[in-house]
Amino acid sequence: MKTIGLIGGMSWESSIEYYRIINETARKKLGGLHSAKSLMVTVDFAEIEKLQHEDRWDEAAQILAKCAQDLERGGADFIVLCTNTMHKVAEQIIAGTKIPFLHIADATAEKITAQGIKKIGLLGTRFTMEHDFYKGRLIQNFGLDVLTPNEKDREIVHRVIYEELVLGKIIDTSREEYKRIMGALIEQGAEGIILGCTEIELLIKTEDSRVPLFPTTAIHAIAAVEKALQEE
Ligand code: GLU
Repeated sequence: MKTIGLIGGMSWESSIEYYRIINETARKKLGGLHSAKSLMVTVDFAEIEKLQHEDRWDEAAQILAKCAQDLERGGADFIVLCTNTMHKVAEQIIAGTKIPFLHIADATAEKITAQGIKKIGLLGTRFTMEHDFYKGRLIQNFGLDVLTPNEKDREIVHRVIYEELVLGKIIDTSREEYKRIMGALIEQGAEGIILGCTEIELLIKTEDSRVPLFPTTAIHAIAAVEKALQEE
């Protein structure tokens, strides 16, 4: 079994989900007392969030590249970055280490295409919904047609993430807003919805949607265990 290297803390509310799902998956696959071999480094999310909102991505990239190097030195066999948004700087993280990087959008897109879905809705932070690093990858590498909410609704999705979910606040009225916003994407033809922020699946569950959901924390965490168990 390989050792999974996790870059966590963005936010820790979802990092604990990664840890739980990774170990539950290892137990399910291997039985008995098995758990997954892993290392996690945790950043101070306040520092990262400030750099994001001040558009200082290179400085955030340096912090995360150093985390990846620490994981590599500690014996990790590959890197799992436990946030969708910070995949914006994935290339800089990859450049700093020799070990492989398991991209969250690739793991998610593989699940979507396996179900024969072409038109997909995307919820996440403003950065994930609006910048090209995520949507562009889904379109160019996987041929998906990606729908995002209108500007006012993107603002709501973003605000709920930063003012509620990363603080562990699960609020019913926000769930209703998300359901309305997902409904609008479905009206436009979305055949599934990517929960493209690692905290959204704390708020939104399968029963909240009429179309299949793609929860990125669960998908990424399970893909990490599969990679850890792959023979090479
Ligand atoms: N966890 C979130 C994500 O998956 C947002 C927090 C962050 O900005 O990294 O995008």
